[in-house]
Amino acid sequence: MRLVVLGGGLSGMAAAHELMDKAEITILEKESYLGGLAGSFEMDGQFLPIFYHHIFPHDKHTLKYLSEFGMRDTISWKRVKVGIVADDKVWDFAQPHELLRFAYLSPLGRLRYGWFGLRTLFTLNAASLDASLDAKTWLLRAAGKEITEKIFVPLYAENKFNIPLDKISAKQFAMRLVNKEVLGKFGYPSVGLHHFVSEFERHLQKKVDIKKRAVVKQIDLEKKEVTVGSEVVKYDALINTIAVPEFLSIAKKLPTPLVKRYQKVKYCPAVEVAFATRHHLTNHYWLNLFRQRFGLLFQHSNLHDAYPFKFHWALRYGGSENDLHLSDEQIFNEYIGNLKKTIPIGEILWYRVFRTKYAEPIFTSDYVKIMPHNRSGLAGLYNAGTATVFPRIRNMDASIQSGERAAQFIASDFDIS
Ligand SMILES: Cc1cc2nc3c(=O)[nH]c(=O)nc-3n(C[C@H](O)[C@H](O)[C@H](O)COP(=O)(O)OP(=O)(O)OC[C@H]3O[C@@H](n4cnc5c(N)ncnc54)[C@H](O)[C@@H]3O)c2cc1C
Repeated sequence: MRLVVLGGGLSGMAAAHELMDKAEITILEKESYLGGLAGSFEMDGQFLPIFYHHIFPHDKHTLKYLSEFGMRDTISWKRVKVGIVADDKVWDFAQPHELLRFAYLSPLGRLRYGWFGLRTLFTLNAASLDASLDAKTWLLRAAGKEITEKIFVPLYAENKFNIPLDKISAKQFAMRLVNKEVLGKFGYPSVGLHHFVSEFERHLQKKVDIKKRAVVKQIDLEKKEVTVGSEVVKYDALINTIAVPEFLSIAKKLPTPLVKRYQKVKYCPAVEVAFATRHHLTNHYWLNLFRQRFGLLFQHSNLHDAYPFKFHWALRYGGSENDLHLSDEQIFNEYIGNLKKTIPIGEILWYRVFRTKYAEPIFTSDYVKIMPHNRSGLAGLYNAGTATVFPRIRNMDASIQSGERAAQFIASDFDIS
């Protein structure tokens, strides 16, 4: 059985891992490295994650692989500080006692927020929410007007997806809250994310043909052929892990109902300045900036302080479409110029600007009707990756799980279990 995996991110790697003893596998990856969004860049002899990445104790698929590659014991788990920058002030915002001082909300709003938090933690069953319920309707009911408008609109509708809250799925939103992200422990392997991806690749190399710098230009879904440069690769099964709009642009003879459905899948981009300073900027790992030039500041060194410098990301998701086209210098000047107004940052040792058009699929309230399934419905075509994980939050763990799931469908369909 010949399997082509389109994309060498974590979902594609996990799919290949699952089937490496059972099929003849080729991974086609357009970049010079595997890992996709979880890839790294080199600076001053250090490999640093391109985008902020942390793991949680419930990320069991990621942890399984970290164990397999002997890295599980290298994870340091830490409770981190999470905050909000609003009204030109930095507010601590995660632990219950911090809520009491959170004058950004009225006293009644703080009480209501505390009550909402307790109910979310102890009684909310996110999985039972109707997939078509929108986040605004649910939040107005569960948290009230002040909290919805002052916290969740800027946090999620503006900073994350840049679409109104009433277009976002409540179920996916609630899953995020129920995961207790901001209250629990955050983890990072001390050997680095790059080491994880490298070990994963080394393991796959034993049996999988990994082609890098292999930009797939066309897929003929009837002939079951993929064109890479002048080469044509034939397959019995194909797992697509690349962003849905990119897939649509290269897939030929995809049945019209699938084209129509996949055309509705939209993504939010991300643009960021990754930069280093001599000192920590604040003691927060994760700061959400409301109504600023960018929305997120992650201080990696407050989670993993292992470099001769302090390393941070200033990142914008929602609304960064135009920033995709600005020069690195302009992005740096605007994002960091904005940051300096609220937080003193001292000397910047170096910076790099990164962009992705496809940071995350937008899980709208109709997503359940449009999402690509692991088994696409077309013979030989399977999907994995972030677009297939709804209602889970898109993260490494969900991508890995989706790759495994697509592989399991193939094993069953081709009788190679
Ligand atoms: C800003 C940001 C922060 C994140 N933070 C976290 C976090 O803290 N914790 C966490 O667990 N997860 C985090 N994630 C999510 C995590 O990175 C992703 O869920 C996961 O890496 C996605 O893997 P994937 O295989 O689904 O997709 P991708 O990584 O996108 O893989 C797709 C691959 O396909 C390749 N490709 C595309 N087009 C072609 C083509 N035509 N031919 C050949 N190859 C092609 C791409 O180069 C890429 O390597 C974050 C993501 C982003 C963007």
